[in-house]
Amino acid sequence: MRRCAISARYSSDLQRQSSNEDQIRGAREYARQKAWLIVEDYVVADSEVSGEAMAGRDGLHRLLEAARTNPLPFDCVLLEDTSRLARNLPDQLRMIDRFAFHGVSVVFFSQGIDTSQQNARTLATLHGMVDEQFLVGLRDKVHRGQHGRVLQGMIPGGRCYGYRNVPIEDPNRTGKYGRPAILGVSPEINGEEAEVVRRMFKMYADGMGVGQSAKQLNREGVPAPVPAKNRLHRAWSRYTVWEMLRNERYRGVLVWNRTKKVRNPETGRKISKSRPESERVRVEVPELRIVPEELWQAVHDRIAHVKDALGIARVGGLSRTRRTYLFSGMLACGECNSSMVIVSGMGKRGYVKYGCHAHKHTGVCQNKWAIRQDRLEEQLLAAIEQRVLQPDMVDYLVKRCEEEIGRRIQELKRQRSDSNLSALRRQRAELQKKAERLIQAIETAGDLGSLTQRLRTVEAEIAGLDRAMAEVRPLNLKITTDELRQRVIRIVMELRELIAAGDPAAAKNALRKHVGRLVLTPAVQNGRRLFQVSGSVDLDPDHNKGRMLLVARDGIEPPTPAFSGLLTDSAKWFGISACLC
Ligand SMILES: [Zn+2]
Repeated sequence: MRRCAISARYSSDLQRQSSNEDQIRGAREYARQKAWLIVEDYVVADSEVSGEAMAGRDGLHRLLEAARTNPLPFDCVLLEDTSRLARNLPDQLRMIDRFAFHGVSVVFFSQGIDTSQQNARTLATLHGMVDEQFLVGLRDKVHRGQHGRVLQGMIPGGRCYGYRNVPIEDPNRTGKYGRPAILGVSPEINGEEAEVVRRMFKMYADGMGVGQSAKQLNREGVPAPVPAKNRLHRAWSRYTVWEMLRNERYRGVLVWNRTKKVRNPETGRKISKSRPESERVRVEVPELRIVPEELWQAVHDRIAHVKDALGIARVGGLSRTRRTYLFSGMLACGECNSSMVIVSGMGKRGYVKYGCHAHKHTGVCQNKWAIRQDRLEEQLLAAIEQRVLQPDMVDYLVKRCEEEIGRRIQELKRQRSDSNLSALRRQRAELQKKAERLIQAIETAGDLGSLTQRLRTVEAEIAGLDRAMAEVRPLNLKITTDELRQRVIRIVMELRELIAAGDPAAAKNALRKHVGRLVLTPAVQNGRRLFQVSGSVDLDPDHNKGRMLLVARDGIEPPTPAFSGLLTDSAKWFGISACLC
């Protein structure tokens, strides 16, 4: 069995103070997995030492001293990664050699490098090269830092209704303006909010629905949680209530690592995905308990009961069905600016209808009009098609486009200068060298993720410079009005085909790219009820140009049974505001 020493290094420019503990915990975990023995006398941590100099590494030097004794007190030294041994490469290699001379190997557990193995020196060299300039895997380290803070009973960011976050000062360090540096925040119960939380649990346990509870709290003017960035209203909704009923912090348990952010490759948007139960971290913090255990149990018994009675699709009153509705996520209520969503007909009865989310779920918006999904989609699609295919529209866009090109040419002429060009060339040459070094490194070591990633970044920078240089080159733009017209028509036709293709998911994707936010304002015109629609269509989303306003104050009839078409003609168009170039 291998006997291990552990060495941690905290560097003030990278890490939180807690990081030494995190590194040591990581090393212990690694040793446990390998069934290695940790020699407790030789677990050392060096703090506040800049990685550039080897001075002040008392802990590490103690390990070196120990390595000279006979018999050896340990067989290997565990470190998180090469940057923990020393920041610069020559020092790292020297340390590895010194330990090796005494028969002690060095293991960098997060990089999987073990100097007793054959390719270790090459790997360490490569990582060392990268360490010199870059913080490898910085994101992972931040993540682990948060993990460590949870284990200390602190909150990794964010606030939670029922608590206030009290900053924890670091007595050993000074932050900005001479005040003590902040280590993190610690939650403390907020008496008034805690009262509301208990009441909410009580309401649900007594048989009230989540939607009813939300409306009741709004009626009484009870201050709701501070809303997320994209919400306009600070109001209780069934979602807020539902989330809170399931938040284990109210029973004195902190759960961390519940979700991770991943990018959806289809849409390019970041979404939260839940992590498996085994990766979650749960810490009991009885002093944070707001809801007594009996009340918590009563609420969760009822949740389980409702789940059984109604089936998974309607847990907590929230529909879990996922259907593609063409315009969901793009429509806004003209009265309160919250989203228009499907508000009825998700069950078996009735038509599926769009309506104001705030009205339905929080009661703070007075707009009670709902419109059948099929009618709304039909009319909106027709409106978009009609407007986008107007000959006037194409003329207008072409004209604006020519203007924009003219303006851009003038701008380029001003910017262009030879000195600028040679500076760009120099930058490019340097990047090119950097890329070649990285390629060599990859050839030597195989395809290490961190190196490949670096190479991609450098290549992207080179491509950026190439584009910048192309802009500096002598201008040779000969775009005729005819060509512009062709281009506008082509884009318009493509959009139309995408929408007409009949596959709701594909159509929705296309619409999402081209259609911005559509605002539906209820209005009565000549005794008829209308939604006035305003919004924009982005004809050329890939270039972020060609944005034009779609409809301004167009009417769509909501509740009349017969489809009456759009009430306006092309004369009512206005505000076409950009070009395609
Ligand atoms: Zn509204």
